[in-house]
Amino acid sequence: MTSDPDDYDNPIDHDGSNDSEDFDDPDTPDGGSDADPAALAERVASGDLSIHELESATDHETAAAARRLFVERETDATLDAVGRYSFDAADADPNIENMIGAVEVPVGVAGPVPVSGGAVEGAKYLPLATTEGALVASVNRGCTAIRDSGRANARVLKSRMTRAPVFRVTDVTEAEAVVAWVREHTEELREAAEGTTSHGQLVDATPYVVGDSVFVRFGYDTKDAMGMNMATIATQAACDVIEERTPASLIALSGNLCTDKKPAAIDATQGRGRTVTADVCIPREVLEDRLRTTPEAVAEINTRKNLVGSAKAVSLGFNAQAANVVAAAFLATGQDAAQVVEGANTITTANVRNGGETLYASVSLASLEVGTVGGGTKLPTQAESLDVVGVRGGGDPPGGNADALAEVIAAGVLAGELSLLGALASRHLSSAHEQLGR
Ligand code: NAP
Repeated sequence: MTSDPDDYDNPIDHDGSNDSEDFDDPDTPDGGSDADPAALAERVASGDLSIHELESATDHETAAAARRLFVERETDATLDAVGRYSFDAADADPNIENMIGAVEVPVGVAGPVPVSGGAVEGAKYLPLATTEGALVASVNRGCTAIRDSGRANARVLKSRMTRAPVFRVTDVTEAEAVVAWVREHTEELREAAEGTTSHGQLVDATPYVVGDSVFVRFGYDTKDAMGMNMATIATQAACDVIEERTPASLIALSGNLCTDKKPAAIDATQGRGRTVTADVCIPREVLEDRLRTTPEAVAEINTRKNLVGSAKAVSLGFNAQAANVVAAAFLATGQDAAQVVEGANTITTANVRNGGETLYASVSLASLEVGTVGGGTKLPTQAESLDVVGVRGGGDPPGGNADALAEVIAAGVLAGELSLLGALASRHLSSAHEQLGR
């Protein structure tokens, strides 16, 4: 994005009225016009208008400009940079409240990485948005090693977005009756849930009991959507049926057994979103040329660090830096950033094969929550990043684009693991950071 607002194709001048002197302009007509950010900011300051009501008083651009003026006065911050953005504020309405502008994160590209997947075939570039110097270079180095080895394989093994409401019952006998009802009437629940969506499909509804609490973990195939809104709306419809047909009372639509945006073994073992795995066989000479290491050294580091070290730490992630690649890919492609928590549930393996001629390496991401429709994927820069991978919008068949994105991210995670393990093995991790990141 350019820093010159005149360079935008967008005719709206996001920054035009962002002059804090206007705020106190005595010439502003009484009450001001609805198109005048300074007058609107004054109304917010005086309590005449609440900060979240600005969009109901004016258009989205003016509302954001007025809010910037108000925040600038309240905080002494200058929001010139925040006020320069490339999308129409109205388009971001489903994504943000109290909008004041946008935060820019540099985006780089790693690859191409050849991927042979269930939903993707060919060499792919992976856009990565990050402020961590050396990360893109590291993933790129791993992509080169994969490329020189032929390709990475990748497969989505399960696709299941979950929502688990919690119900109150009187005691365990009632709990058992509710569980039995849910098991016998899954079809009825499916009908109710799928009545709310044209794409989502209820795949399973698994009950759990803790004393007088009954949880039902609903699992959906959400196709190309990450699916958290879709699953939540569908689950409400299913809960209505459970409350109508059983003595259970719904206490919370999310009972934390889902589990969304919190570290949880249930996601690591049963999966959430896409469960995706990628692997590669790397010849010894490629490891020596590209990563300056050997199959034996990578395998030993992986065992001692990613497996033994992670076990000793009782970590849910048995990997070197999966979250780095997941977070950067999520930011670039408009995913929900908080779900990097689940994306870190990744196990990396590395074994020596063929009498030392080959390193076999794999990554298994238990719960990668990605979509190519909905959420932040529609915003222009994020949609362009999806274009780089070739997966913007709905897939054919539905779900194919989100599967392909998951497989390409998994290949990127594999590249990141190989590169970091290689850097540790050749002991040049700190020098790479010195050269590239600081
Ligand atoms: P969404 O933007 O709410 O909905 C996407 C919709 O796109 C789907 O419901 C579907 O409509 C439609 N669609 C069109 N083509 C599709 C295709 N090929 N495959 C699947 N759907 C298609 O997105 P979402 O993925 O359900 O939810 C993501 C959002 O939820 C993110 O913004 C995230 O931050 C937020 N979130 C919500 C919660 C929550 O508890 N509600 C929790 C975490 C995150 P139909 O359903 O009519 O088919």
